This record gives sequence, C-alpha cells and structure tokens, in this order.
Amino acid sequence: MPVKAGVVRAGSRQTKRGAAETFTGTVFQDPVVVTEAPSRMGGSVVTFTPGARTAWHAHPVGQTLYCLSGVGRICFQGEAPQVLNPGDVVNIPPNTQHWHGASPDRLFAHLALSEAGEKGEGTAWGRHVSDEEYSIAATGP
Ligand code: MN
Repeated sequence: MPVKAGVVRAGSRQTKRGAAETFTGTVFQDPVVVTEAPSRMGGSVVTFTPGARTAWHAHPVGQTLYCLSGVGRICFQGEAPQVLNPGDVVNIPPNTQHWHGASPDRLFAHLALSEAGEKGEGTAWGRHVSDEEYSIAATGP
C-alpha cells in the first residue's frame, strides 16, 4: 500500500512494550515515523521507566536521539555513561556499540530515528547492560 498524504491519527497506532530480549526493565515504544520504500527511515518515541535501558547494540546507518522529557543516559563502548536532558540530541555513528535509557530514579523519553541498511539490515543487538555497567557514575549536567 503506497504512502498516502495525510494525517496519521494518534489513536491509530498502538503503544508496544520493549522486548525483554533487547531491554532491561519496562519500556514503551510509540511508532512515529513509519515509512515504505524508497524510504528506510523509522522513528519511535521510546519511554523508559527508572532504571530501564536498552541492551548493547549498534545501528547500520547510525541513529539520532532527540531527548523529550525526564533524565536519561547514553553510553558509548569504552566510555562512562553521560546524562541526557530534554532538548539534547545524540548523534550515534553507524556500527557503534552503545546503550541508552533512563536514569536510575527518573522516567526518560526520547524520539529515536534510524534508517535500515541498504539491504534492509536492522539494529544489531548484543548482550544486556549489567547492573554494574549501568551504575557507573554518569558524566555531564
Ligand atoms: Mn541506539
């Protein structure tokens, strides 16, 4: 079905729970950018409850996060986690291991935008972020 011009009503798409295989804790995903070829873009508002986070993962064409509310974390492999606040934008290069999520005691929501690879490849998921990794003191404001 080709993409139609028009308004996608808020009630027409369902909130999904983040899968236990790829998230720790309770996470909700609202699809926002749903496209068809030739576009490879996808986007969701992801809401993390306190302490919830993605598993380690990488994106074939990278990812942009736009932070909407609450207090979050972004962590790139080999670095300490960084604090995220509303209005912050995170640029994640292609094939770069990282995780993102809420701070330990606050909700956090971001818009996550990423493209599938040229052959349709999606996110490459790794292992869960351990409590030890998650609890490393975060840097930033
Ligand atoms: Mn990511």
